[in-house]
Amino acid sequence: MTGRRLAAIATVLVLGLTTATAAAKPPAGEPPSRVMIVVIDQFRPDYVKRFNMANVRAVMRDGVNFDRAILGHMAAETVITHNVLTSGKLPKNMGWVNEVYRDVDGVLGPPGSYQVTSSLGCGQFDTLLKAQGYPKLDDQLGGRFISVGQKTTAACPAGHPADADDVIVHIGSRNRDCDGDGRNNWRSPGGFNIPAYISTPNCGRYYVDAEPLKQPFPGVPAFDMTYGTSTTSPAWMYPLDGNRFAVGNDPAHLGGDVWTADAAIQMMQNEGDWRGMMVTFGSVDKAAHMWGTDDDGPSFVGDDVHVQAHLPFAARTADAQVGRLLAALDAQGIRDDTLVVLTTDHAGQTAHRYHGQDGPDRGNFNWYYGADSDETYKQPQPALAPLVATDNLDFSYQDGHIAAWLHERSPADLDEAAAAMRSMPDVIASYVRDGDRYKRVGPTGQMSGQERSWWVRWGQELIDTMAAPSGPDVVGLLRDDVSYGVEGDHGGHQREIQEIPMAFSWPGLKPQQRQEHIRAVDVVPTVLRLMDIDPVAGTDFDGTAYRLKTRR
Ligand SMILES: [Zn+2]
Ligand SMILES: [Zn+2]
Repeated sequence: MTGRRLAAIATVLVLGLTTATAAAKPPAGEPPSRVMIVVIDQFRPDYVKRFNMANVRAVMRDGVNFDRAILGHMAAETVITHNVLTSGKLPKNMGWVNEVYRDVDGVLGPPGSYQVTSSLGCGQFDTLLKAQGYPKLDDQLGGRFISVGQKTTAACPAGHPADADDVIVHIGSRNRDCDGDGRNNWRSPGGFNIPAYISTPNCGRYYVDAEPLKQPFPGVPAFDMTYGTSTTSPAWMYPLDGNRFAVGNDPAHLGGDVWTADAAIQMMQNEGDWRGMMVTFGSVDKAAHMWGTDDDGPSFVGDDVHVQAHLPFAARTADAQVGRLLAALDAQGIRDDTLVVLTTDHAGQTAHRYHGQDGPDRGNFNWYYGADSDETYKQPQPALAPLVATDNLDFSYQDGHIAAWLHERSPADLDEAAAAMRSMPDVIASYVRDGDRYKRVGPTGQMSGQERSWWVRWGQELIDTMAAPSGPDVVGLLRDDVSYGVEGDHGGHQREIQEIPMAFSWPGLKPQQRQEHIRAVDVVPTVLRLMDIDPVAGTDFDGTAYRLKTRR
C-alpha cells in the first residue's frame, strides 16, 4: 500500500470521527426552536471564493447548500426581498412590489399618490402590512423577533412592528451632536422597541459619526469621511456618508457591518426569549453600487486611497461578522437550537453598458424620475428621454430594469409607453400589466444566445411576481451588464442579479449540496417545515416548503 493511500484512509477516519462527533451534538429528535436569517446585501455566489470568505464557506459546506438558488422575484431590491424572506409571499401579494409605490387605495396618503418605498419608515411599512393582514415569520414562530441592520430599507420591512414584543434596530437619522462641533451630524439608533442598552447612553456605542467632511478642530485639515468616494467617479454617484456603511476608525463607535453584528450579539445576550432574528449586513451592497461588482480595491489615484471604501474589504468584513454571529450562538449555548439561513436579498451586476449620468450625487436622479410628497427627482438622464417625451409619465424607476407608472392608462397610452420603452438603449422586451400578469408588447431587442435562453426560462415568471395595481404599468427588461442607475446595480431579471447564495446550517442537518432552484419566497415555508411548526391560521404562502435532511 502506498503512502498516499494510507494518508487517504487516515483522512477518511478523521473525517468519520468529526462527523460522528457533530452528529451527537443536536438534542435527539428535537428540531431547532430558533431561526436566524443572515443576509449579506447584494451578495453573489462567486464572492465566496474570490474574497476567501472562510466563515461563509464553512456554513455552506457543513449545512444544506443550494448551488442553484435564485432570488425568484422582481423587483430584485432590498426593500422588497426583506419582506419576501420574512413572509413567504411574492411581491405582488405582499403590499409593495418596487422602489416606487402607487397608493391605489390610499393606505399611506391620498389615493393615487406615490411613495418611494426605500424612503418609508418602520411605521409606514407597518401600515402597509396591516392593510394586507397576512401573518409574518414572527407570527409563525411565536416569541420575540429581532430585525437588525444598518439600513432602514432592510431592517424595517424584515421586521413586524405590529407585534408589541418585536424589536427593530437600524442606524437612524442625523440628529445628534456627539462631538461638540455644534452640528447634528451623528446618527442615532432608529427602529421600533429599541432596547435601552442600544439607545443609551446618549452618544454611546451605537451612535455613529455621519459627517461627510470631518473637521475635529479649527485649523486642523479636514478628514474626508466619504473615504474618497465623494470625489471619485463612479463612486461619487452614491458616496459613503460617514460610518453608516464604512466601519470607520473610531474604536468606540465602529460603523458598517461591525455595528450590525455588535448590536445583534448584544441583543442575543439580553433577549433570551428571541425565536427569530434577521441580521442584515449592508456594506457589500454599498461598495458594489459605488464601484461595480468587479471592484478589486482602491486605485490609489487621487482620493481613492481608502481600502475600507471598497468591495474586498466589505466582503471580508461581512464574512468576519458571520463568524462572530456563529461564535456568539455557541457562547450562548444555543447553536444546537438555532437554524441559520445564510442568503442575500439579490445579487448584482456591473454596468459595462451604462445609461445613467455619471456625476456627484447623481444616484437618486438616475434611479428615480417623479415626485412624491417629500421628494422630487426631475433631472433624468438623457437615455430616459423617450419615456419622458410621452408626457404621460407619473413616476419611473430604473436600475437593472425599467419600471414606469403612467398618468393615463388607456390601451393606447400603455402601447405608447411600451413603444417608448422599446426604443431605449439595451431594452430586450417591453411589457404592460394585464391584471396579475405582464403581457409582452412588440418585438424583442438584441440579445446574445445566453441572454435569450435565460430570458426564455425566467423572464415571464420573474416579471409576473410584481404584477399588482401598486406596481409599474410598463416594464422594460434589460440586457446583461446594463444599468441606468449606478455602476453596480440590481432590480432586474438577469442571471447575475438572480443567482444567489442560499445555505441552511444547523448541527442536526445532513450536509448536502442541492440542485433545486430554491427561491427567497421558499425560505419561510422551508424553515417552518424543518422546525416542525404548522403555519398559523390565515397563512397562504406563495413559496414551497423544501425538506432538509436531518441526521436522525
Ligand atoms: Zn439589497
Ligand atoms: Zn442596493
